[in-house]
Amino acid sequence: MRKKGLLIVISGPSGTGKSTVCKALIKKDKFWISVSATTRSPRKGEVDGVNYYFLTEEDFKNKIKNNNFLEYAKVYGNYYGTPRSQVLKAIKEGNDVVLEIDIQGALMVKETYPEGVFIFILPPSMEELKKRIISRGSETPESFMTRFSSAYKEINYVSKYNYVVINDTVDNAVRNIESIIAAEKCRVDRVKDEILDPKEGITYEQLDDKSIYCRSIKKSGQ
Ligand code: ADP
Ligand code: 5GP
Repeated sequence: MRKKGLLIVISGPSGTGKSTVCKALIKKDKFWISVSATTRSPRKGEVDGVNYYFLTEEDFKNKIKNNNFLEYAKVYGNYYGTPRSQVLKAIKEGNDVVLEIDIQGALMVKETYPEGVFIFILPPSMEELKKRIISRGSETPESFMTRFSSAYKEINYVSKYNYVVINDTVDNAVRNIESIIAAEKCRVDRVKDEILDPKEGITYEQLDDKSIYCRSIKKSGQ
């Protein structure tokens, strides 16, 4: 049986650098990236099925009704959702899957998939967050204010996550996320079934009559 992959959920307030960090992470390491569905219009250069599946609100609502989403949320006036079957299939096939989603969606995933790894990205300061939202150049003064003031509320959700990563530099943030993933892969509750499975040349020798077992590699002919 193939080992299941990890579900890594990365979220945090708008402008903290989630997309930038995820892009850098994906460039370095092999992850399966989920393509979300959304009701927002494509931006210049965005391709249907690559950046998002662009759906009408009616189609999106039908998919909600049919339980097609692992999670979904309305973010700044548009719906966004993660296709359930594709993600669960990828994990089952042993892929580590990254979801870069908003906080409401991340909390919804935590309810249904608590074995996921939930990482909250924070900016080094609110002043820096302000600069980053402005530097992206994608916001009107109104949408800037909505995002920046929401960030103060959203930061309180950090306690619902397993890990927090400060995105001071992209390199540091990526390195910390890689370390988190490496540690998660060594967690006993994730690997014990594999270690205790007496197959593939692994056997267990009884050491004493109190049934203490030690793992050893079976040598051929022994
Ligand atoms: P989010 O996906 O969280 O909304 P983005 O990835 O779009 O945020 O980043 C917001 C802006 O901040 C972008 O202009 C991006 O280039 C910049 N940025 C991201 N990470 C850093 C960083 N570590 N240092 C400086 N600028 C950054
Ligand atoms: P954008 O419109 O800038 O691409 O994304 C806006 C916000 O929606 C970002 O915070 C992004 O993380 C979030 N988002 C993108 N895809 C999903 C998704 O599938 N589910 C949820 N809950 N949020 C998403």
